Amino acid sequence: MKSNKQRRKELKAARSQRAKHQKQAKIAWQKRPPSGAIAVDHSKLAPNNSYTLPPDYYTDQPFTCRDCGVEEVWTAERQKWWCEVAKGSIFSTAIRCRACRKVERDRKAEARRIHLEGVAKKRARQQAGD
Ligand SMILES: [Zn+2]
Repeated sequence: MKSNKQRRKELKAARSQRAKHQKQAKIAWQKRPPSGAIAVDHSKLAPNNSYTLPPDYYTDQPFTCRDCGVEEVWTAERQKWWCEVAKGSIFSTAIRCRACRKVERDRKAEARRIHLEGVAKKRARQQAGD
């Protein structure tokens, strides 16, 4: 037969074991991936010098377009592509909707073309003057 002291010791051990299990279950629950999340492949991210740890999951991020004000969602899938294929920053956020991005890209390309043309003309003029 066990002594009371022995029994108390066993009860105490069982209780602390149970508390430990509950604590671990709670942490696992808190750390569970959000629904619709895609895991981040940290080995494919572009190097950055941030002290902030990158997130472990991509989640759909709703945003409002800066130019036209339309509501759009930057999906977890597109974020994965942006960070791991296009090597964009893991800390970037979406700013413009699809349509406005195209307009902005065309505007930049046109501005670049005009600038380079101007530079070429200036060079030609300088060479003619020499
Ligand atoms: Zn827009």
